[in-house]
Amino acid sequence: MLTFLEVDGLNCPIVVCDWCGKRIEKAGDGNCEWYIDEQAQPVSGKAVDHIGRPIAGILFFTHKYCTRPCEKRNGFSQSRDLDAFLFELEHNCPFDRDRARQMSDLVMRL
Ligand SMILES: [Zn+2]
Repeated sequence: MLTFLEVDGLNCPIVVCDWCGKRIEKAGDGNCEWYIDEQAQPVSGKAVDHIGRPIAGILFFTHKYCTRPCEKRNGFSQSRDLDAFLFELEHNCPFDRDRARQMSDLVMRL
């Protein structure tokens, strides 16, 4: 999950493994997972699974070594290396790195 760790009264964004609950400290150590239901049917123009959950709308994050047990239990069918996911996210939601760095200097305490 994406969440915050409070450090010196500031909320610092981090990624936590949805399987073991520990922080994923390096993107290269993690995966991003999502659920695809082969039997999904479009409803009102949006694809949902057999119990109405939006397909690919919920993301899970795991350490690479936690991916297999997490997938075995939850049945995820799609995954991406976390570093590739972040790279693609930046591509699909571009931002000004200099401006972001200036705004983030206040919460980069980790
Ligand atoms: Zn883990």
